Order: sequence, then C-alpha cells, then structure tokens
Amino acid sequence: MAPNSSDANGVLFETDAATPDLALPNTPIQQADSYPRKYVWRNIIAFTYLHIAALYGGYLFLFSAKWQTNVFAYILYVMSGLGITAGAHRLWAHKSYKAKWPLRVILVIFNTLAFQDSAIDWARDHRMHHKYSETDADPHNATRGFFFSHIGWLLVRKHPELKRKGKGLDLSDLYADPILRFQKKYYLLLMPIGCFILPTIIPVYFWGETWTNGYFVAAMFRYAFILNVTWLVNSAAHKWGDKPYDKNIQPSENMSVSLFALGEGFHNYHHTFPWDYKTAELGNNRLNFTTTFINFFAKIGWAYDLKTVSDEIVKQRVNRTGDGSHHLWGWGDKDHSKEEIRAAIRINPTDDKEE
Ligand SMILES: [Zn+2]
Ligand SMILES: [Zn+2]
Repeated sequence: MAPNSSDANGVLFETDAATPDLALPNTPIQQADSYPRKYVWRNIIAFTYLHIAALYGGYLFLFSAKWQTNVFAYILYVMSGLGITAGAHRLWAHKSYKAKWPLRVILVIFNTLAFQDSAIDWARDHRMHHKYSETDADPHNATRGFFFSHIGWLLVRKHPELKRKGKGLDLSDLYADPILRFQKKYYLLLMPIGCFILPTIIPVYFWGETWTNGYFVAAMFRYAFILNVTWLVNSAAHKWGDKPYDKNIQPSENMSVSLFALGEGFHNYHHTFPWDYKTAELGNNRLNFTTTFINFFAKIGWAYDLKTVSDEIVKQRVNRTGDGSHHLWGWGDKDHSKEEIRAAIRINPTDDKEE
C-alpha cells in the first residue's frame, strides 16, 4: 500500500486501492474547517481584469472579428484544452498512459498555451485533489462551496493542511522528464509567448486582423473560456450529476461539462478509477474528444500502455457503491429490453442462438 494511504480520502493510483473493486478501505469524508481567508490581491486584480477583457473579447468575437480570427481562437481553445486534458491531467497527473517524446513535446506546447501553471505544478495540485479529495488538503476543496472550488481557491493563500500533506507527495516521475523540467524552468518566458503574444500577433500578421481583435478575442476571450471550462470540472462536476459508480463521493457525471471540457465531465467515474485513460466508461467517446485524440496517437504508436478498468470490476463497483443511476449495464443486461435488443444494429453477430 502506498505511503500515507491511511489518511488518504480518495484513490490516486491503482496501488492505493484496498478492496477487490478498487476502493479505499474507508468511506471518504467531506469536510472543511473555518480557515480564515487570506486574500491574494495580485490574483484578484489579475482575474478581474481578465474576465472584463474576456467579456469585451466575447463581444468582439460575435460582432467584430474576422472569421479567420474566430476559427483561430477555436483551434487554440482545443489545443490548449488538450494540453490540460490529455497532457497535464491524463498523462502527467494520472500516468494513465505513456507517450513517446514527440507526443510529449506536442502536449507540453499545448499545455503552455493554456497558462494553468507548468505541467509539473498542475499535476502536483491535481494529485492532491484526488488523494485528499473534499478535505482541507484538496487545493479546490468543493465542500467549501461552488465559488471556492471554481476560482476562489486561486484568490486566497493555500490552506496549511495542503502544504503539510503536499510534502509527502511523490513527484519524482515528473521531475525525471527533461521536457517537463524544461517547461518549468523557462515557464515565465514560454507562457506569455504561447498564451498571449503569438495568439495576438498571428491574426494581425497573417490575415490583417486589428490588434484589438487579436488581443481580446484570440488571447483574452479564448484564455478565460478554457480556464472556466477547466474550473467547471472542479465546481459543477463536483456538485451536479448522477453518481452511478460511487455515491459516497461528490464528483458526478456531468454531460454539459464533458461537452466543453473535451470529455472530462464523467467525473464520478474518474474519481472512482482515476488511472483509466478514458476518464469514462467505454462507449462515452462521443463527448470525449480527448479519448479520441489519445486513441489516434495510440494507433500511430506515439501513445502506448493505455490503462483502463475491466468491465467486471466496474460492474462490481456499480453494484456495491453506485447510486442506482447506472440503469443499463450494457449489452444483455437484465434491464436491457427485448425490443431494444431486437432493434439494435449488429455487425457480424456471433451469438445468434439467442435470437
Ligand atoms: Zn475532481
Ligand atoms: Zn483527475
């Protein structure tokens, strides 16, 4: 069992699990103490400015910018989103698959465009979020309310419990990667170029966009949009939705979050089995562009050792700790109606005797 697992409040890696269906031995708790908030005024001012600038950028997106600028902003949103979801989250924080260096370079560039701190720092915060979920050692502890888990956690000093328990976290795998060390070392140089300077200059230089539209649409609006989408995973997906896999935790299956967060809203599944590279059960790929992206790179061999969870274990877990909303297990489930089975389109069926 992993060190410190006795005070953990969520599984982080498969090795933390203690039951046959991969749960912790103890039922998770939800708690927050009344730690006095110490405001970080520099961040409060910066985020206030960002959101006012982004609202103006949203207006320009609709009524002023050239279509090329809007398409460019959308592409940057997808790229920076994947830098978080496929990179910082599924690859680096969770080690749910492995990537050869060309894919790691692509992901670290995408990650730098997103400006959510270096991938090493992001993965550190996120490992704390899973391991000490919904306690004071969770950076965006959702039991402190929607606003705190959304943006508030970035506007106040860290809880001392987070710092104390954070010291025991193993990050050696992240520091062993020279690509991640390079990004962290030069972050304050690379990040402004990737997140603000290039997104502003490219529309002006290549298709004659105005400086105002380049800056407010492709930089500020796009940046604030992907930030809020990421934060919704911590706030909305820890508050609203079904809990088919584990009803004892706050994270929930939230389809609208999945739609914008490139597949990261299947959050009850994800906190139940965080090492699954899909962050969802098979079959949920339609709202899971990140999985499609990883599958593509697996096909060409740049992504490999993709980890997932067997149907049998998921089923055991749904039966033991689910809230009953996983009404249909899959093909041939006892709740699967005869009409639906007859109406299904099947390619090369081999079990025809049941027909
Ligand atoms: Zn979460
Ligand atoms: Zn996660």
